[in-house]
Amino acid sequence: MKRVSELFVGKAKSVYSTEDPDKLILEFRNDTSAFDGRKTDSLDRKGLVNNKFNAYIMQKLEAAGIPTHFEHLLSDNESVVKNLDMIPVECVVRNISAGSICRRLGVEEAQDLNPPTFEFFLKNDELHDPMINEYHIRSFGWATDQEIAKMKELTFKVNDVLKQLFLDGGMLLVDYKLEFGRYHGQIILGDEFSPDGCRLWDKDTREKLDKDRFRQGLGGVVEAYEEVARRVGLKF
Ligand code: ADP
Ligand code: UDP
Repeated sequence: MKRVSELFVGKAKSVYSTEDPDKLILEFRNDTSAFDGRKTDSLDRKGLVNNKFNAYIMQKLEAAGIPTHFEHLLSDNESVVKNLDMIPVECVVRNISAGSICRRLGVEEAQDLNPPTFEFFLKNDELHDPMINEYHIRSFGWATDQEIAKMKELTFKVNDVLKQLFLDGGMLLVDYKLEFGRYHGQIILGDEFSPDGCRLWDKDTREKLDKDRFRQGLGGVVEAYEEVARRVGLKF
């Protein structure tokens, strides 16, 4: 499969059309960004690590009965995926308090959230991805009731699968963000699952092994991503 034309250049990935209207090529670049694009950098090997890691996780999710857009790896930095009509909302599940929920609600970091909490955000960089609720999604027609229910169901199902997978590797899945899209009438998991879009802490030391290393200038970003991959059984 070959790239036909560049459709979109995002902050970390580029999207290309192919000869098959149902398939896209996702290129995982080394670019990274935080704080709505105000902090950026290029990190050697990040594209390769996230491409391979995402493929591994998507296959685990698929095996657990979660429909995903992942088709196959195309190269070190590219994957072939299904061409989804993306729903412009981000689904976030939190098992432990961290990040924006602490700032918004004035709660302390590192509290176990039992049950885990769920939040929707509108995917809009200019507006800084504001938090929204199901009424907004319905009223503005971003998704139907049925689609909202499906996104929530699948996002929590991902939690069951990945919490355990990471725990087996000695890590806590603190929170994560998922994006979904429509494909021939079905709601499918799209975008990526990688340490760029989740928080993972070492179970014992609580060392951060995710994008917070970049956000907080801790260094060793890609090394931490590779460590996460190694701990869940992925070899490069
Ligand atoms: P951002 O949009 O935050 O800058 P990326 O750099 O990751 O993010 O860009 C990837 C873009 O591709 C995102 O807008 C995402 O919604 C979109 N995307 C991911 N998977 C698919 C898919 N299977 N079909 C269509 N679009 C997708
Ligand atoms: N997240 C993401 N993309 C976004 C916003 C959040 O991947 O545009 C992820 C983030 O990495 C974290 C989770 O979603 O794992 C919750 O993010 P939060 O709301 O705490 O925002 P942050 O403080 O990370 O900006």
